[in-house]
Amino acid sequence: MIRIERPKAPDIYASKAYQQAQLEFDAHYRDTDLKVRQQKSFRAPSSSGSVERFLDRTRTRLEAAQLGKCAYCETSLDLTLRAAEHDHYRPARGARGHDAFHDEHYWWLVLEWDNLMLLCPRCSMAKGSWFPLADESTRAAVGARGQDLAGEEPLLLDPFVDEPSEHLRFLDDGSVSGRTVRGRTTVEILNLNRPDLRQQRASRIDALYRTLDLGQDVATLLAPASPYVGAARAAMARRNLTVDGPPVEPPDTGTGGQAPWLLLLGENAVGKSSVLQALVLTLMGREALEAQAHVSPMDVLRYVREGD
Ligand SMILES: [Zn+2]
Repeated sequence: MIRIERPKAPDIYASKAYQQAQLEFDAHYRDTDLKVRQQKSFRAPSSSGSVERFLDRTRTRLEAAQLGKCAYCETSLDLTLRAAEHDHYRPARGARGHDAFHDEHYWWLVLEWDNLMLLCPRCSMAKGSWFPLADESTRAAVGARGQDLAGEEPLLLDPFVDEPSEHLRFLDDGSVSGRTVRGRTTVEILNLNRPDLRQQRASRIDALYRTLDLGQDVATLLAPASPYVGAARAAMARRNLTVDGPPVEPPDTGTGGQAPWLLLLGENAVGKSSVLQALVLTLMGREALEAQAHVSPMDVLRYVREGD
């Protein structure tokens, strides 16, 4: 999983047709009995045709933004078979929290651009209606949009909003675990350690290491469009976590002399921040760290080489 930029909404969202569709959609839901709405065959009408036809008009932009991959597991979507399923970050047919099933959430966000994503069938099925919150009492009121949803604390990561590498830890064997409660919940709900996925990630990482060992260019394997690049980036960061630079000493602020400096360049999420954080921790020294800051390096660092 990697962070995805959500492009601006397709033009259809600025059209009168959309406003009309949304109005009809809202009215239809409000006027229909919950039991009828829960039936699989239930479809809300819109002036542009069925909801599916409306959503189809958002597909091209989503496919491009997601670089042809599932938003969660990064498996390439077989677009010719149309296996990629439109899905919603906030589920459309009731939300399953850790406390209860919330029948009325979040049907009103079915057409909402910020709520749409394309998922592979496996992730879509695993995700289902799951949408737990850290504090279920913060669940938004029916009909809430935009800022009115901001009070919720979703436990499921949104790859269009969150930086997955802050929440997930990919290992060389292709497995992934959560660095945070949100990461752990996401791995669990989406079943991101399913055997085929683990194997695919492991073979990508293997290919990366072999290519590095041969001294060849790994740009293709680390390109955002490459499948499972989240795992590959983490592996690259582990491999690269040796920094050769000038000795770092506290700068002499009294004389105005020049201090050595080091420039770190790299793709997003390969470990630049970890290197800087490691330098700060090292300069602080273990005693000061434990006595004053009360932090352990593992609380701060995103990437730590096994054994260190
Ligand atoms: Zn998937």
